Amino acid sequence: MKNIYTHIPGFPRVGAQRELKTALERHWRGELAAAELEAEGRALRARHWARQRDAGLDFVTVGDFAFYDHVANHIQLLGCEPARFGFQAETPLERYFTLARGRAGAPRGDCACGHGSANDQNSHDGHDGHDSGSPALEMTKWFDTNYHYLVPELDAATHFELSSTRLFDEVDEALALGHAVKATLIGPLTFLWLARSTDATPRRDLLDCLLPRLLPIYGQVLARLKEQGVAWVQVEEPILGLDLPQEWRSAFDTAYWQLNQAGAPLLLATYFSPLEENLSLACRLPVAGLHVDGVRAAHELVSVADWLPVHKVLSVGIVDGRNIWRTDLDAALGTLAPLLEKRNGQLWLSTSCSLLHVPYSLEVETALDPELASWLAFAHEKLDELAVLKTAIEQPRAAAAALAASRAAIATRRASPRVRDAAVRARLAALPDHAAQRKSPFAERRLLQGAKLNLPPFPTTTIGSFPQTPAIRSARAAFKRGDLDGTGYEAAMRAEIEHAIRRQEALGLDVLVHGEAERNDMVEYFGEHLAGFAFTRNGWVQSYGSRCVKPPVIWGDVSRPAPITVAWARHAQSLTPLPVKGMLTGPVTILQWSFVRDDQPRADTADQIALAMRDEVDDLQQAGIDIVQIDEPALREGLPLRQARRAAYLDRAVRAFRLTAAVARDGTQIHTHMCYAEFNDILPQIAALDADVITIETSRSAMALLDAFGDFRYPNDIGPGVYDIHSPRVPDREEMLALLRRARAVIPAGQLWVNPDCGLKTRGWPETEAALRHMVDAARQMRAEW
Ligand code: GLN
Ligand code: ZN
Repeated sequence: MKNIYTHIPGFPRVGAQRELKTALERHWRGELAAAELEAEGRALRARHWARQRDAGLDFVTVGDFAFYDHVANHIQLLGCEPARFGFQAETPLERYFTLARGRAGAPRGDCACGHGSANDQNSHDGHDGHDSGSPALEMTKWFDTNYHYLVPELDAATHFELSSTRLFDEVDEALALGHAVKATLIGPLTFLWLARSTDATPRRDLLDCLLPRLLPIYGQVLARLKEQGVAWVQVEEPILGLDLPQEWRSAFDTAYWQLNQAGAPLLLATYFSPLEENLSLACRLPVAGLHVDGVRAAHELVSVADWLPVHKVLSVGIVDGRNIWRTDLDAALGTLAPLLEKRNGQLWLSTSCSLLHVPYSLEVETALDPELASWLAFAHEKLDELAVLKTAIEQPRAAAAALAASRAAIATRRASPRVRDAAVRARLAALPDHAAQRKSPFAERRLLQGAKLNLPPFPTTTIGSFPQTPAIRSARAAFKRGDLDGTGYEAAMRAEIEHAIRRQEALGLDVLVHGEAERNDMVEYFGEHLAGFAFTRNGWVQSYGSRCVKPPVIWGDVSRPAPITVAWARHAQSLTPLPVKGMLTGPVTILQWSFVRDDQPRADTADQIALAMRDEVDDLQQAGIDIVQIDEPALREGLPLRQARRAAYLDRAVRAFRLTAAVARDGTQIHTHMCYAEFNDILPQIAALDADVITIETSRSAMALLDAFGDFRYPNDIGPGVYDIHSPRVPDREEMLALLRRARAVIPAGQLWVNPDCGLKTRGWPETEAALRHMVDAARQMRAEW
């Protein structure tokens, strides 16, 4: 009898060469017909399944593919496309892309917020426009990943109906190719949890009224899959790793009792987070198997093996699906041994979660340092690791060579002198307590800064980037290709900086920026200048739709060999008597948007980055830059999924920021910027950053976000964004004035700054200048009223 099975919760979908991105963008431009796009999808699926089978997996996973997003696939499967789109004769595929991208006239915006995130859309991936049309579904991060899903919109009147055959067609496709199929679905409770209520029905009531309507549809889906002959249906319920309200926990019992009636063998899949108080619930639900995250919840494996009835399948996600390090197979076998014993030698082996979150393959990374490459495993290599683990359990001798190779790679990494930098470690160890503390309290600093900067009330500024024009992009591309030499590139960027400075002067802004022309990306740019970082050639990971990001790999101790931004900042400041803000990315954001080494706590890596950036802050102030902004848009998104772990995370995140900033002299003004986020629950920590000025995105919430800062009596200066940079629309002066007056009602006027919501890199100059002109006018009016 066969005892060890291997599978994966899901595979990446964009293609090893980002074929899906290319095909989608051609389709959207009208260059590729729907049938050809479908054919490309089919080819990708066939390739991905073949790869899974060739690696020896016992099942291929079907249902993880999506042209844009798998949650959007479920919206169509379950027939709950929001009525507001007013669909009529469109094909399902047309409707799908309208849900994802909106209808002309109501673009989803472009913006600098978030590293290739929802807001960082390609210029051709939006429509310019007027205010009619339908905005796309909202996008938000999938749990604590950098993948964005389309948020289902539900209300008390929502009806569900089995409305798409796509999943079943894909199952047939895989069966026709001769594969053993495990279909995958997002579970009904996770689907409801991820949705947004559009009629103010509280989530709890949505659960009460919608779950009974949803379950029969799931029942139909399961029955159909069973009829098709799938071996298993994986039902993903990652919300079991969250702090769930009691009514949601209880709903699992009824829901799965009902789903079980369909008679399809269900593998309940959880990932990203420990089950904790939901552990016994997950183990006793009437399903045929349970998948657990053996990386993030390794400490629970033994309990799960104990609690889960032996007739059920236990799938252990032993290979990390969220990071790119080679698995320590000996350690993995050590973890599995007691489980095998408890489960009578029967176990499924898997990656912790879908491989959607890692790049395809190391094969193409020929430019990567070979030793570093030997420490890594992308999706393909992770499949091979599963195969080796299975062999190692079933026929240890046959796995000996593969295990030895893996062992050797792990050993070189562990012993590598390159990974450790004694100077970095000594410096961190010797840090005095006050290293993370500005010299004087804000009240004293503000007097010194005020005297030095001599700014008017309601000072105006921007968030850092100015339009990344085609000229800037092509200069960078030419430089990367080698068609433009270093001197030529530098001259081009200096000219762009001068151009940005002159325009800001003409607009009458008070605190200028150099415009970030020289930066491709706010994390990659710094990573490229820091020791301990590596960059892949093709290490793309889907962020949303056709958008992919290529996170840097932090593999060793981080330090800053030489100043990074100082020459640009000095150049910018030399052009104008007005203050120019230095512009840096904060340590937490750099960490959050990279693949981080797993051989030391993340917080320690954050501290190393903090020290490197601290040196940059110091060099900037020495060079005569009196204001330095340290962007931390990812600070909040790093919050652990479980409440109980949040305080510790926030503590270290705040400390890393403070380590970076506290080198500033009292007279140096530190700004920070955060994009749209729920700040209510982390205001004490935002205040603890002790930035002299924080700029946040507030215009889309009509300043409502600011109320919490007011109630909290946020002590330092604050610049609530007065206009939405996500669309080319130019708001007039009155609109911004109204927002500023609203802000003044909750925050003392002396603390307020005037700025847009975020950076302007995705905008064009004409709308940028027009909007900033209105913004400066609005600030002048505020001064007059004061
Ligand atoms: N300084 C950056 C910019 O303006 C900030 C972007 C961000 O925080 N997302 O582009
Ligand atoms: Zn922002």
